[in-house]
Amino acid sequence: MRLTYPHMGNLGIILKALFEGLGGDVIVPPPITERTLSLGVQYSPEFACLPLKINVGNFIEALEMGADTILMLGGVGPCRFGYYGQVQREILKDLGYNPKMVIVEPPQGRFKDFLRDLASLFPGLTVGKVVDAVKLAWEKMAYLDQMERALLVFRAHEAYRGAVTNKYNEYRDYIDESKDPKEVKALGLKVIEEMRSLTVPPVEEPLRIAVVGEIYFLIEPFPSQDIFKELNELGVEVDKTEYISDYVLSNIFPWKLNRIKKEARPYLNRVIGGHAVNTIGNTREFADKGYDGIIQIFPFTCTPEIVAQGILSRMSKDLDIPIMSLSYDENTGQVGYQTRIEAFVDLLLRRREMGSAHI
Ligand code: SF4
Repeated sequence: MRLTYPHMGNLGIILKALFEGLGGDVIVPPPITERTLSLGVQYSPEFACLPLKINVGNFIEALEMGADTILMLGGVGPCRFGYYGQVQREILKDLGYNPKMVIVEPPQGRFKDFLRDLASLFPGLTVGKVVDAVKLAWEKMAYLDQMERALLVFRAHEAYRGAVTNKYNEYRDYIDESKDPKEVKALGLKVIEEMRSLTVPPVEEPLRIAVVGEIYFLIEPFPSQDIFKELNELGVEVDKTEYISDYVLSNIFPWKLNRIKKEARPYLNRVIGGHAVNTIGNTREFADKGYDGIIQIFPFTCTPEIVAQGILSRMSKDLDIPIMSLSYDENTGQVGYQTRIEAFVDLLLRRREMGSAHI
């Protein structure tokens, strides 16, 4: 079995550690490029969500490299994610590929069952092997997330263009290669200090923007044309409201979402699919934390986020915080969005100069 899975930010590194630790032969798809996107767009239904199309591109590229088994997460709830796997299986079949498609349901509090389902893919497993693999993957997840949080702040003040990003990429590769959880921790802590040393202190208090929205867009920078980097290069410190560990932990322990559901309740009191509840709850929470502005990012056809977008315009007035929504598809031009992002940052700066008076 030569196993592959779709890219989603650093999740690929974590899954590779887990599956190799369990004894799997892993084929990591090449990094997402325009070719990946165009393959996905060419063979997916036109109105499919952009993440589905990019996944299809990942799968084709991994199958070209010799993968024969695809692992895909299934889903629950009233959004299209639940049948992504089946649609993708049919697309690949029509193209003449015949991979084994393993669709794993998210654990939703049944972590042992989830692990048992996964374990059935890896014959000859021992408890020790599972514990070691989970430990290594867990440590990689924790430190890759911490590194990314630091990147999104330090890159806003880097001493020269690319300094912090290059350091981050260098250590991300070391962590990818590492087979030792203690070494992963040491590398993670070291790179945060090294990234810090490559910054210059900002002259004025920097703007801080929180990015909310659809989970694939929050974790994988490609479809938003790396809006996080774009904001950093304008001198803005960024925080994403969800990282991989938030996504994984809320799937393992669904009650972790109760806090965010409570935050969202005055505006949205039921789960409507996707990450709409998280978008609303996180917006409220981050507005309270004193961020200067919020940006929502999502795929053009994402119904839950379109509903959230409508609610956010009311929240912007109620919470007295500027909120901008950006939806993307495969045709989104970079220049138009860059202008909108720059205009939003200008607005936040002017607002601050005017002592947060309404603009
Ligand atoms: S959350 Fe949005 S983008 Fe993701 S599968 Fe559901 S509808 Fe599509």
